[in-house]
Amino acid sequence: MTPDPLNRLVAQLAKLPGIGEKTAQRLAFHILRAPGDYASDLSQAIREVKEKVHLCGRCFSLTDAHLCGFCQDQRRDDRVVCVVETFADLMALERTREFKGRYHVLHGVLSPLDGVGPEQLRIKELLERLGDGRVEEIILATNPDVEGEATALYLTRLLKPAGIRVSRIAQGLPMGGDLEYADQATLAKALSARRDL
Ligand SMILES: [Zn+2]
Repeated sequence: MTPDPLNRLVAQLAKLPGIGEKTAQRLAFHILRAPGDYASDLSQAIREVKEKVHLCGRCFSLTDAHLCGFCQDQRRDDRVVCVVETFADLMALERTREFKGRYHVLHGVLSPLDGVGPEQLRIKELLERLGDGRVEEIILATNPDVEGEATALYLTRLLKPAGIRVSRIAQGLPMGGDLEYADQATLAKALSARRDL
């Protein structure tokens, strides 16, 4: 008989993506046996991430301040904004060290079948950011799948009439692939070899 608290921990861990029942059990035993304050540090870290981390007021990436580090960094270029689907995609692009502009996180893609229209994404906020006239280029870095392409097309039609250069990363990324899992070299090339729309 496994003690109930242990069962509860295993059940919670097993809900994590990519973690099966067996791995959840292994992790639970590890937490149980870990020396010192590991277990309480872990539980505090989990609690704090929910309490303190929220969306950046400008680009909608994640931060524990009003504006995120990418928006606050004076060395980054205000004239170029890279539009991504998720924070994970932002982090993947950031790992390439190729991009020194600003970001904008949509938090999804257009997907009519799932009931996701433009108003469910941070598109209105993107247009508002263009209001001060500082942005000269928008790089559309949505994923190269059906929804990502449709979203890029939608944004192009919206942004081009405003006289902004719109470009699309694509080359080198497999169709249907996911930015988050692309290797850094491929992603860096896709960014530098972007094409105008
Ligand atoms: Zn930000």
